[in-house]
Amino acid sequence: MSGNSHDSYRGHYDGYSSFGISYDPPAPSRSYHDEAERKEEERKERERLAEAERKRVAAEAEHARKVEEARERIKSNPPPPPAASRSAAKTARFYDRSLVRLGITTPASDAEGLYYVLVDNSASNDLIRSHIRATVEYVLGTACALLPKHQIVFDFVSDHEDGDSLFMQEIDYVFPDEQGVKTLGSSVQHVYNADGGDIPECFACPLERISKLNFGKVPKERRHIILVTDSIPHGFGWEGDNGCDARLEWGSTLRKVQETFATFQVIGCPMPGDRIMLKLQKKMLPEGKARYDFLDISTVRDHERRKALVSTAILFLMARNKGRQTVEGFLAALYLKWLKEPIFGGQTDSNAREQITTFATYIEASQEEIDALLERIFVKA
Ligand SMILES: [Zn+2]
Repeated sequence: MSGNSHDSYRGHYDGYSSFGISYDPPAPSRSYHDEAERKEEERKERERLAEAERKRVAAEAEHARKVEEARERIKSNPPPPPAASRSAAKTARFYDRSLVRLGITTPASDAEGLYYVLVDNSASNDLIRSHIRATVEYVLGTACALLPKHQIVFDFVSDHEDGDSLFMQEIDYVFPDEQGVKTLGSSVQHVYNADGGDIPECFACPLERISKLNFGKVPKERRHIILVTDSIPHGFGWEGDNGCDARLEWGSTLRKVQETFATFQVIGCPMPGDRIMLKLQKKMLPEGKARYDFLDISTVRDHERRKALVSTAILFLMARNKGRQTVEGFLAALYLKWLKEPIFGGQTDSNAREQITTFATYIEASQEEIDALLERIFVKA
């Protein structure tokens, strides 16, 4: 990521609001005064549909043009293999002490939705926690186009053994706007590495805590939690589990979370091949929910690529929670972004397709619908 201003982050999704649009006309109102009024309403509705269709066709044509341009560029100028470590550009990070907001207060009165992003901040998750802390401005800046009226809390969590000051390191509600990016970027520099002690972490205590917050006017349907972890909560049968100091039991915490939030989703990032951990991680989700709400990025074996993918996975879940059209637009923009910044070296196009196809398996839709969506995104030559 280069640059620190909000404008350098926003935009990679902009322009995709009409992409893959599926327009459902509203149910007709039954209270017309007369036939003329009914006809006029119908005419307006037809016009609206035609306009939406024009926009959709234009957005897809524009996407196709950009994708072909990017593919040509890759062909005539093949990217070099990725460097062993693509650490973020070493530009001085924006910091303003007066903007630092630690802890969680109350959402803004005009917030329309809330996201709580819990990041496992224990030592074993070092690759991922460090990457998220280094790129939170990018996540928030991109969320601007997806969820402009939502507020996001970042909470870096570990375990009781780290002590109260390190166990839950929270950054207050921010909107995904320029001020929010500066506030989050300044605050995250006050988040410190925790250790975590034993293998399981205490996710129950921070989840109980956020379940009791004052959500202002934001209804349950628009409150979401995303947990990023390589580990599991206490009480999952792991040898040497030191347990939760508050003796919380995962099942009851999960019920509270389900009563309070619209979604609870987990991004699992254990070491590739750790099947035992992966199997246990899926048990964090309520019965039957793991298929779509447990996003496994441990399939990506390259460490650099896996860590880079986690920020995208957070944004993908946000886009998916908003709806089919948003997630399709997000993936289309992502494909183009990857073609322009060839992070996959010589196999940019095929690797980008493969990863986006994997993301698409987490969209609740029939295989036919997924295939059609991917065809629009990849612009089959
Ligand atoms: Zn606890």
